[in-house]
Amino acid sequence: MRKVSIFGATGSIGQNTIDLIARDPDAYDVVALTGGANIAQLAVDARRLGADLAVTAYEDRLDELRAALDRSGVEVAAGQAALTEAASRPADWVMSAIVGAAGLAPGLEALEQGATLALANKETLVCAGRLVLETAEAHGARLLPVDSEHSAVFQALVGEEIAAVERIVITASGGAFRDWPLEDLANATVEQASCHPNWNMGQRITIDSASMFNKALEVIETREYFGVSPEQIEVLVHPESMVHALVGFRDGALMAHLGAPDMRHAIGYALHWPDRRDLPVERLDLAQLGQLHFRAPDEARYPALSLARQVMARGGLAGAVFNAAKERALDLFIARKAGFLDMVAIVETVLDRFEGSSGLLDATMTLDNVSETDHLARKWADDAMIKRAG
Ligand code: NAD
Ligand code: MG
Repeated sequence: MRKVSIFGATGSIGQNTIDLIARDPDAYDVVALTGGANIAQLAVDARRLGADLAVTAYEDRLDELRAALDRSGVEVAAGQAALTEAASRPADWVMSAIVGAAGLAPGLEALEQGATLALANKETLVCAGRLVLETAEAHGARLLPVDSEHSAVFQALVGEEIAAVERIVITASGGAFRDWPLEDLANATVEQASCHPNWNMGQRITIDSASMFNKALEVIETREYFGVSPEQIEVLVHPESMVHALVGFRDGALMAHLGAPDMRHAIGYALHWPDRRDLPVERLDLAQLGQLHFRAPDEARYPALSLARQVMARGGLAGAVFNAAKERALDLFIARKAGFLDMVAIVETVLDRFEGSSGLLDATMTLDNVSETDHLARKWADDAMIKRAG
């Protein structure tokens, strides 16, 4: 039996992962499931899968979790340290599906144990790409992409040399506002930004898709994971979300990866890698689809993409600043304290302030320094918002 753990088990990716694992219960021994505020879901899944341990990120929810798992034989724990302790328990395969920079510490811990880390949490690579890759290397651990675009690129690269790659094209649906008049974006509401045209995902990544911050993070993730230069990475708007990515080779060949927009494909590929197994995903009927559409991204509509280029050019801890400022700006938008367009303005202000503060972006990339940078970037995001409001 394979020992598996799922971080962020109660979220959209976590639940899709559980869906696959629960179809073949004899194949998996579930070590740890972690979640946040949805204690009921965490308890139901921990019982059903016979997990050794269930952890909520919130210390004040421990009693509730304990009560929900009474007489189940599942051990319970709560808080940040408990999340990292869960990650230190030996597992063969670990799904990293916490949302945000909170996924970094548990992911690093799992890599230190030599686990195969299936990485949905793109923030891990954006905040601390080099540290994460070096940790994996030092401990003989493997990192497998779960983001649909990166899984698609990974699959197109099977049997290929990265040196033969000319360019990597990741697609973007364009999000909720791709066809809105530009002048309406300033007044876009949280409800409107939370509806994705094709994918059913957590609220945060759905809003990030509307602003293209999600694609901006993914461009950086592509650079970190595949080690190509920023100039080799392109974004292509593709409203149907059927082509997930394309890899262009030196001889002009362009290899595309197509599939229905269902994360269980990318999760299942990482779960069974290097094999391919049957997966319960819809099969595309191209004749019935008839046509697919593509267009260049409009930089005026999606300024987050230019910020990603700026971050890659800067290097150092700029990725951690970018992600943290974006997370805080998104908190403010969800709390109705910032407008939709304020988000990009806040992130830009925070990046500029770091750029002007000598040495901060060039600190050594350790978990402590990344965390400190993350905290400061969130604080400066608040400052930037206060200035805008005033
Ligand atoms: P979600 O909001 O549905 O779930 C997030 C999970 O993380 C939940 O289990 C939640 O309890 C937990 N969590 C939240 N804050 C936490 C904290 N501070 N500490 C510990 N746990 C915390 O999110 P999601 O859509 O499943 O996305 C998860 C990750 O996967 C994100 O990094 C996202 O960018 C990435 N991703 C998601 C999709 C998708 O289809 N949903 C696709 C590609 C990549
Ligand atoms: Mg993606």
